[in-house]
Amino acid sequence: MTTIGTPLSPHATRVMLLGSGELGREVIIALVRLGVETIAVDRYDNAPGQQLAHHARTISMTDPAALTALIEAERPDLVVPEIEAIATGALQELEDTGVVRVIPTARAARLTMDREGIRRLAAEELGVPTSPYRFCDSLAELQQAADTIGYPCVVKPTMSSSGKGQSYLHGPDEVAPAWDYAMAGGRVSQHRVIVEGFVDFDYEITLLTVRARSADGLIETQFCEPIGHRQVAGDYVESWQPHPMSDAALQNAQRVARTITDNLGGQGVFGVELFVKGDDVWFSEVSPRPHDTGMTTMITQWQNEFELHARAILGLPVDTTLKSPGASAVIYGGVDAEGIVYDGIDEALRIPRTDVRIFNKPESFVNRRMGVALASDNDVETARANAAAAAARVTPRVV
Ligand code: AMP
Repeated sequence: MTTIGTPLSPHATRVMLLGSGELGREVIIALVRLGVETIAVDRYDNAPGQQLAHHARTISMTDPAALTALIEAERPDLVVPEIEAIATGALQELEDTGVVRVIPTARAARLTMDREGIRRLAAEELGVPTSPYRFCDSLAELQQAADTIGYPCVVKPTMSSSGKGQSYLHGPDEVAPAWDYAMAGGRVSQHRVIVEGFVDFDYEITLLTVRARSADGLIETQFCEPIGHRQVAGDYVESWQPHPMSDAALQNAQRVARTITDNLGGQGVFGVELFVKGDDVWFSEVSPRPHDTGMTTMITQWQNEFELHARAILGLPVDTTLKSPGASAVIYGGVDAEGIVYDGIDEALRIPRTDVRIFNKPESFVNRRMGVALASDNDVETARANAAAAAARVTPRVV
């Protein structure tokens, strides 16, 4: 049986979010609705989730001492990583010594914090199909590895996400610029890259996979309908649900997702990123938490991915049923400035069956994700067009 206390009382159920961006903010909203006291942690003040949580804390989450001190001082019931760049060794220690429960597990947070842990687990231990790959620590190694894997190929910093520092290589001449670009785009100053063979996929999906407790207390795996998405320069610009798939491809996708998430364990939502060609499926990456492309579920599912995560981590039942086909389209900052204003939200919302989320980020950058437009309709194509049109009508502006 799950018991939830009263926030701000001695019996509160307290959950700490490590990372309080747009995804963490929605998890906080879902948790608060279930009666949970929330602590939003980020590396800068007034991050989106910090504006809504019961408590806001600003620390460097990659600093093991600072992270340990904060968790020991707050003693939350659960720690929920929302981003990858966290001192996961410190989380592992705190979990091992019984100080806190990490969602889904400290090991999952550690293995997915860079591209190497999860790729080696998937391909080398679990035998899941992936693109051919090599990890390299120098330009010379990369040159050789790219020639071995062949062209086209893709080079990415091991510590990066969302296409940062990522290059698509047509031939050997492009290896040196790709190395330089990766060195400039990585999250931390780590001189390590992955080079992957290019997968000529028909489409790519995110398969949201939920591990939640069933009535008999066992962990059950449930899948959401596949989410299709379009990436530009490695960053998601629109997503939609459901993405049509053959029965065989869906079965392969679910089998891969289950193999990975069974191994990572714990409770919560996982965003399993897969490439699909015909009936064949390749594993790309997994987030042991809600996924940015899954923002479309805020309009397509009875329980969106953030509500599913909140329920699953608290031991509550989940329902992954689709409510309606729909889509999401990203609203970019378009300007580099603090305290911008947003024109045209009224115009956006005049499009039938649309909605808008503005993330409240204190500072805008040209390519920063500042909001998302959502649309539902009887068919995905209309929803995609409406979400894109609604996003285009919202115009961020410097005052
Ligand atoms: P990632 O940062 O690894 O999620 O990559 C971002 C996007 O780049 C993916 O969603 C794909 O659209 C594309 N991409 C990455 N790796 C490959 C690959 N090996 N083959 C084809 N496309 C890729």
